[in-house]
Formats: sequence, C-alpha cells, structure tokens
Amino acid sequence: MSSNTRVGKADYYEVLGVSRDCSDQELKSAYRKQALKYHPDRNPGDRAAEEKFKEASEAYQVLSDADKRAAYDRFGHAGLGAQGFAGNPFAGGVDLGDIFGDLFGEMFSMGGGGARRASRQQRGDDLRFDLTIQFEDALFGTETEIRIRRLETCAHCQGRGSASGRGPTVCSQCQGRGQIRYQQGFFSVARTCSACGGTGSVISDPCAACRGEGRAAAEVKFHVKVPPGVEDGTRIRYSGEGDAGRAGGPKGDLYIVLSIRAHEFFERHGHDLHCVIPISFPQAVLGAEFEMPALDGAVTIKIPEGTASGKQLRVRGRGIPYLNEKGKGDLVVTVVVQIPKKLSRAQRELVGQLAETLKVENRPSSPGLLEKVKDLFN
Ligand SMILES: [Zn+2]
Ligand SMILES: [Zn+2]
Repeated sequence: MSSNTRVGKADYYEVLGVSRDCSDQELKSAYRKQALKYHPDRNPGDRAAEEKFKEASEAYQVLSDADKRAAYDRFGHAGLGAQGFAGNPFAGGVDLGDIFGDLFGEMFSMGGGGARRASRQQRGDDLRFDLTIQFEDALFGTETEIRIRRLETCAHCQGRGSASGRGPTVCSQCQGRGQIRYQQGFFSVARTCSACGGTGSVISDPCAACRGEGRAAAEVKFHVKVPPGVEDGTRIRYSGEGDAGRAGGPKGDLYIVLSIRAHEFFERHGHDLHCVIPISFPQAVLGAEFEMPALDGAVTIKIPEGTASGKQLRVRGRGIPYLNEKGKGDLVVTVVVQIPKKLSRAQRELVGQLAETLKVENRPSSPGLLEKVKDLFN
C-alpha cells in the first residue's frame, strides 16, 4: 500500500491546482477560477459541482490564512485539528467579503442561466444634469464647475456597509444560496431566504453612518469640460461619476446634457455664422462701409454700390473655427434695405426729384424670367 493513498480529504493545493509555494495572489485567482466554474448558481442541481465548490472554498480559506496554511503545510489535514472544517466551509461566519465581494459581482454580470441569487451589490444609478452654456462656449469649448447631488460611497465603511469593515458574510440560513428549499408533499419548493433577502450574504454589523447601504447622499462639486464644437443636445458621459453602487457595487455614470443659449444675432449654419443687417436706401445705392462685431473681434462690412435688398455678403474666414483642421467658416451678412414709411417734407421732395431721373418701366414679366435676369436688376 502506497503512503500517499488519499484518505478522506483531497490535498488543498491540488484542489486549487496551485504549487505549494504559490503567492496569495495566485491562490486568490486560482480560487476565483474554481469558484466561478463550480458555483451552485451556475450549476443548479449538480451535486458534484457543489462538492467541488465546497472543496475549493475550504481549500482557499485554509491556504489564505497564513497560520492555517503553515499548520497545513507541516501536518496536513491533521494539522488543522479542531480548527479544521466540519463539512461546511461557511461554518463559523468566516469572512468571505474580501473574495466574494467582487466575485459575486463578476458572476452576476456574466449572465449565466439557471436560478439566480439576488445580488447584494447593485450598480449605482446613472445621473443626468442639464447644463446651459453660452453660444460662444459651444464653439470654443469651456470648463465650468457644477454642483450635483448623488449617492457617494460611505466614508465610514468604504462602501462595504459593515462597521468593522469586514464586508458581508455568507448567510447561515441558506448557506449563501439565497433560497431555502423545503419539501411540500411530493414537491421540493424553493423560496427566497428571508434572512438575507435572497442575496446569500448578510452584514452582521451594519455601519451606523449608512445603515449597511454602503453609500449616502451628498452634494459634490463637479468639474465639467465642454469640448469645442458641441451642438445643442450633446450628451457628455462621465463614466463612474453617477451614484455609488449599493454595498460596494459599481458606480453609475453621469450624463451632462447641453443646451446652447441662442446668440443675440448670430445663427450657426455649419461653420458659417449668419446674421441680418438693415441698410438704408442711399447706402444700398451708393455703397457703404461700417464695422460690426464678429466672434473674433470687429469686422469691416463693405456694401458695394447698387446692392439689392436680400443680398448676401460673405466675409471669408470670420466664421466658426474647424475642429480638426486649420481655418474657419465664413461670416454671412444678409442686407435688408429699409424703406422708410414716413418721410419729412424735405425728404419727400428729394425723393421726388430722384424719381424724375430714375425711371423704371413697370411691365409685367414671368417670375422665372426674373430669376434668370436677377443680375440685371442687382
Ligand atoms: Zn440567506
Ligand atoms: Zn457606511
């Protein structure tokens, strides 16, 4: 008979598939792998998988404890003595918060089939903040500070929800399954475990500040960076800046929804800036020159002699800067000739004199023809 015949329990290192000199990190990741593979949630009704899961959990709990690991290394299972396990790896309220905290989160996000336990951890909500910015800020970008109300990770317990910081322990009522099975006649019925609300874990010493929630409402300052070239309704997403998750769950996102205040006189058409300017009849006839404010300073507008009402004047390169290349769009000024409704006697006489010398033949023509000969009238 060989000396290494296995009696009763399997070797803990073999169970986890690690070498005897493995690091804590290697140990942890080996256990995660096993636990993910054999967890009862992912293998409903599979007794063999359940056994494997318990074995792996037991092995990890011993080997992750420096004292127990040393005893086990020297004396094997016998070295654990009364500290050893009596079959249930979760007995004695062993703290699994460290490994199970993120492990459970991972499993629930993997979307496996079968019966699922409610997660103690929940992702925080996404938040929306409506921000109104100036016309110019939308073009050139801006930075601003806003105040938002959101659920923040509890500072007292670092979001774990427990006063001692130990995190949740596996529910002793359901052994972490989240469900209690019982026999009713011929049927086996499962109901949600009331001790843990179906989450499979409980916080035995809830944090006084957050009552075990792991988070609390707070008003915080938040720095918003608006990139240049945004449009009305643009959403800026800040990942992980929403509500803190429940019991250390992942944070939600923050969405800044922009609305852009209309400019006093400019409208944006692509990269061109459009505006309308009234001119007088003499200015239209004789031409004129004046200054108007553009986004990048004053610009001189030249009205050529004989400019018709509705004519568009284009000032190259005084519009909106391109985002990814050099240059700018144009400034487009539509001139509207103002026809006075009231004239003084002197003005009326002058226009009358003008009328004597400026004659137009009032003969009808087709509107289509008008389009073709527009230049003649202009
Ligand atoms: Zn329970
Ligand atoms: Zn707390």
